[in-house]
Amino acid sequence: MIIRNVWCVGRNYADHAKELGNTIPQTPMIFLKAGSSCSVNSTEIILPWWTEEVHHEVEIALKFSQYMTIVEGALALDLTERKLQNEAKKAGAPWTLSKSFDGACAVSSFFSIRKLEEFGDHRLRLWVNDELRQDGRTSQMLFGFEKLIEYIKNHFPVCAGDLILTGTPAGVGPLKDGNHVKVELENELRHQWKVSKEKAPTVKDGA
Ligand code: ZN
Repeated sequence: MIIRNVWCVGRNYADHAKELGNTIPQTPMIFLKAGSSCSVNSTEIILPWWTEEVHHEVEIALKFSQYMTIVEGALALDLTERKLQNEAKKAGAPWTLSKSFDGACAVSSFFSIRKLEEFGDHRLRLWVNDELRQDGRTSQMLFGFEKLIEYIKNHFPVCAGDLILTGTPAGVGPLKDGNHVKVELENELRHQWKVSKEKAPTVKDGA
């Protein structure tokens, strides 16, 4: 099933909103990543050559079935070019460049979900080179899974195969060429990636 849209929620963990100096939203703050920015079940992350400061944000991804129910989940990295995002925020400009570049949504393999309530207090963690960077629990989400699903279905043209990225806990930080990233969702899933950076295109002298 093709991923057409990735509906993301920003600032859904209060401690992460705080670390970036953001206020806590009263309604879910939704933004999009292009479905074509996703890589699914790959073990490689390739950062575009023009990026300077790409941050990891580990999130639980929920996938819509053809019946618009959630029967599968994954862990995803909402990769974010933080420098460009901060500039866009200041300018009141959209986040597309910082959030939706080629490969900006790294998704693990999928696991099946029978009941969403079972994921109400799961621990999600991210390590870079075996150093724990992000450690949160789904019970810390400001808007829970059911609320997010309802809000997104009520406001947007959701398609089968679309993902919801449900927000990231505190501890986001930059990824560098050669890093190993590991993520884990309590008892459900583990995934890892090796990070590399694309070489800048060489400028040839006009002959
Ligand atoms: Zn995010």
